[in-house]
Amino acid sequence: MTDPTPDSPESLRTAADAAGRPRTRRRPWAAQHGLRPAMLALAFLALAAAPLALSALAYPLAPRSWWDDAASGLGIAAFAALLLAFALSGRYERITGRLGVDWTLRLHRWLAYAILPATALHPFLYTDPDSGGPWFAGADPTLPVGLLSLVTGMGAYILLAAMVITALDRDTLPVRYETWRRLHAVGALMLAGLIALHAFTASGYSAHPAVAAFWGVLLVAAAASLIGVHVVRPWRQWRAPYVVETVDKVGADTWELRLRPRAGRGTHSALTFRPGQFVWLKLGGGPFGADDHPFSIATAPEDAPTIGFTIREKGDFTKAIGRCRPGTPAYLDGPHGHFVPDEAEVPTVYIAGGVGIGPVLGHLRTFRAEGDNRPITLIYASASPAEIAERAELDALAGELNLTIHYVVRAPDAAWRGRTGRITRDLLDATLPVQGRADCRYFVCGGETLEAAVYRDLRALGIPARRIVVGS
Ligand SMILES: Cc1cc2nc3c(=O)[nH]c(=O)nc-3n(C[C@H](O)[C@H](O)[C@H](O)COP(=O)(O)OP(=O)(O)OC[C@H]3O[C@@H](n4cnc5c(N)ncnc54)[C@H](O)[C@@H]3O)c2cc1C
Repeated sequence: MTDPTPDSPESLRTAADAAGRPRTRRRPWAAQHGLRPAMLALAFLALAAAPLALSALAYPLAPRSWWDDAASGLGIAAFAALLLAFALSGRYERITGRLGVDWTLRLHRWLAYAILPATALHPFLYTDPDSGGPWFAGADPTLPVGLLSLVTGMGAYILLAAMVITALDRDTLPVRYETWRRLHAVGALMLAGLIALHAFTASGYSAHPAVAAFWGVLLVAAAASLIGVHVVRPWRQWRAPYVVETVDKVGADTWELRLRPRAGRGTHSALTFRPGQFVWLKLGGGPFGADDHPFSIATAPEDAPTIGFTIREKGDFTKAIGRCRPGTPAYLDGPHGHFVPDEAEVPTVYIAGGVGIGPVLGHLRTFRAEGDNRPITLIYASASPAEIAERAELDALAGELNLTIHYVVRAPDAAWRGRTGRITRDLLDATLPVQGRADCRYFVCGGETLEAAVYRDLRALGIPARRIVVGS
């Protein structure tokens, strides 16, 4: 089997086209226009290095040791990286389009891990005038470090450490996730302000107009990104409200939530999305709260204007889903994500764990609506038989589509006759298609641990990385 690249003309000439069926499976805008990871990395490196290059305009600041320049350089690079981290909040399709939200947020975390030691080292590299070696900021004779600069620097130092530690230990904190998220956003803004004050008052390289202008642009961009998320997007949601249509139990601790556009003043055309994408969902209240959660769309675009989600109870928000009444207002920010099936009817393998079945259902329901006949293998892991979500519909889909399902259950009951245990390399080897295995498209969804392990196993089984789509 040939391997048409996703956007090649070959991949766009599909059996669906020939049959005159609607084409709802085109790659999403973000996947087409999102920056390639290599381009993204280059853009980030260029932007992080730009203030260093601009600092060359002010070089040499004064006769000073290279330790002092290294200290300034480290601080400048860390500040640039911090401002760039705002762009990795997971809401910008040009960034997440090809990378995926999971990877974008992972990069956001890694950037923070890099910024912390750089910031920590920065003041200690300035030279001690007596020894000539690195010591601490106050001893640098070339920098008139005043009280304001010292206080803002130390404040930023403590705030950054607190933010990284609370982010690392988030699940054990005695506060709700949403409270942590709000505090994290406010903390980030305060941190940027403190470092800017520190940089401008230290009279170092940042005092040069070119460097100062660069900081000004990045600070405005960071503030704009927060305004975009907390003001502009909610305003758009306010203009396109939804309401809860139905809430049904579809497995142990798992619910199917269906929404439809609200009739009346807010009547609007339904969200346009590709199968498997996700939205940030707010339920009840208004669109301007920070309490939104990401959920994959589990219905087909053909079901529009109704849009549905498969939701597993986890914390306070998801545990309240079962109590939600029809008519409850809902707001959607999206669609986002690249978990979208190929346009061409290529053999496709899904490996899902738990509620990771949600976006897979979105694909399968779309294939049913479009009469898509691609060969599909679904490997679906659950904790127990009762936790297999939408089992009856999945079994029905196996009869309607060219679909083989392998349920894998960790804790089987006496009646269970299927596979047991976890998804291992051996299990994959035994269940993946034998013919043309490396040419199939693979979709993996089910939490970081499962996704990382399955990705490793698929690669070990000879599946090329470009054939695997992980997470949302
Ligand atoms: C792209 C994506 C798609 C998802 N799709 C689905 C789906 O289809 N069905 C489903 O049941 N779950 C899905 N999830 C997970 C779902 O978002 C969380 O289970 C839910 O937000 C938990 O909220 P809570 O208040 O019930 O639990 P909490 O106890 O508050 O949170 C439990 C954990 O969920 C994560 N989480 C909580 N709130 C958010 C948030 N606002 N943004 C990001 N992460 C958060 C955090 O890791 C947190 O530690 C998806 C997650 C992502 C990132």
